[in-house]
Amino acid sequence: MNHVVELILKPKFVAEIANGYPLILKEAAESTNETIEEGTLLKIVRPNRKYIATGYYGKQNKGIGWVLTNDPSKEIDEAYFEEKFKQAISKRVDFYKQDDTTAFRVFNGEGDGIGGLTIDYFDGFYLVSFYSKGIYSFRDAIFAALKETTNLRGIYEKKRFDTNGQYVEQDDYVEGEVGQFPLIIKENGMNYAVNLNDGAMTGIFLDQRNVRLALREKYSKGKTVLNTFSYTGAFSVAAALGGAYETTSVDLAKRSLPMTIEQFSVNGIDYEQQQIKVMNVFDYFSYAARHQLKFDVVVLDPPSFARTKKMTFSTSKDYPKLIEDAIEITASNGLIIASTNNASFNMKKFKTFIDKAFKEKNKRYKILEQHQLPEDFATLEDYPEFNYLKVCMIQLLK
Ligand code: SAH
Repeated sequence: MNHVVELILKPKFVAEIANGYPLILKEAAESTNETIEEGTLLKIVRPNRKYIATGYYGKQNKGIGWVLTNDPSKEIDEAYFEEKFKQAISKRVDFYKQDDTTAFRVFNGEGDGIGGLTIDYFDGFYLVSFYSKGIYSFRDAIFAALKETTNLRGIYEKKRFDTNGQYVEQDDYVEGEVGQFPLIIKENGMNYAVNLNDGAMTGIFLDQRNVRLALREKYSKGKTVLNTFSYTGAFSVAAALGGAYETTSVDLAKRSLPMTIEQFSVNGIDYEQQQIKVMNVFDYFSYAARHQLKFDVVVLDPPSFARTKKMTFSTSKDYPKLIEDAIEITASNGLIIASTNNASFNMKKFKTFIDKAFKEKNKRYKILEQHQLPEDFATLEDYPEFNYLKVCMIQLLK
């Protein structure tokens, strides 16, 4: 078992942790012993040393660890992980049963009781992501528990805690069957090519499932669809399958071109009938405005933060301007699908960005629907701040 150290909370953080807030903030600790190692178990106590919870020490963004249990007698061992995984799996029996969706999240960090750990299912393969060295120290117990509680084909892992937030290329295979990539998974009947052993990303962001479905079912038929920050073109595929007249995918990463061709191809869509542009979205906006292009649907799904040679883009500062650019090239009565995964602001704040942009452009709008994380990305009801995904379908009114 990992070593245990007592962590005394500052008085003002006691109530929060005692009530179930799962993240141990850096400033919540009265004293942190400098020599403490990641993965050390924390006996979290009140200033009078009375037990509150057990957690682990692991550095991740603003936190120094996560609460694991508030039962003082609970050992953090394989049986502990088995119990957590069983609970998580039992919440997702419907996903396991579906034939037309074969990829989903099985374990969503703090939403399933263990911050810093996520597990995704891809047609029998399990992808385990570790967000700190601390949680990675429990790796053996986690894999053993996963094998015990599932019927798996193989396990892959992502160590998402390397220096400077940079993902270090590595072989992500752990054990079981060696995957043949691309692996073709299904999502609401659509095919998506994924690769579990090719860098930080897999080819698809599973948290956008409901948004892709809505785009396909309600907003694509006969429409021109611009997909910005398109990555592998997952939204473009959904739009094309929904009967879009034409999709245009824009991403500056060179790899987005072959990956988008692949996503279209595995769905039997002729990619030559679609537009795929490898370029900066902001240059594309100028190009489109110059040529007076208008799209019926514009998808905005930028990374939280991006830096190119010419500029930096941060969603928390620049989203209003991004929507203004989109308004310029959206047809009258058209739709802007604005998405962000930036956890530093909430839906309410996101809507103020939308409002600001439309006011600036003197246009009226109506939010037709909004999405946050789907059901399999379990979140804690009391702490909406962990529900990082925010998507609004905004109609530009005449
Ligand atoms: N919308 C995608 C995911 C986007 S990931 C999906 O649903 O799958 C973010 C993408 O933005 C990356 O592929 C990155 O290459 C791209 N990107 C970042 N800055 C960009 C810019 N200025 N112009 C175009 N693409 C950009």
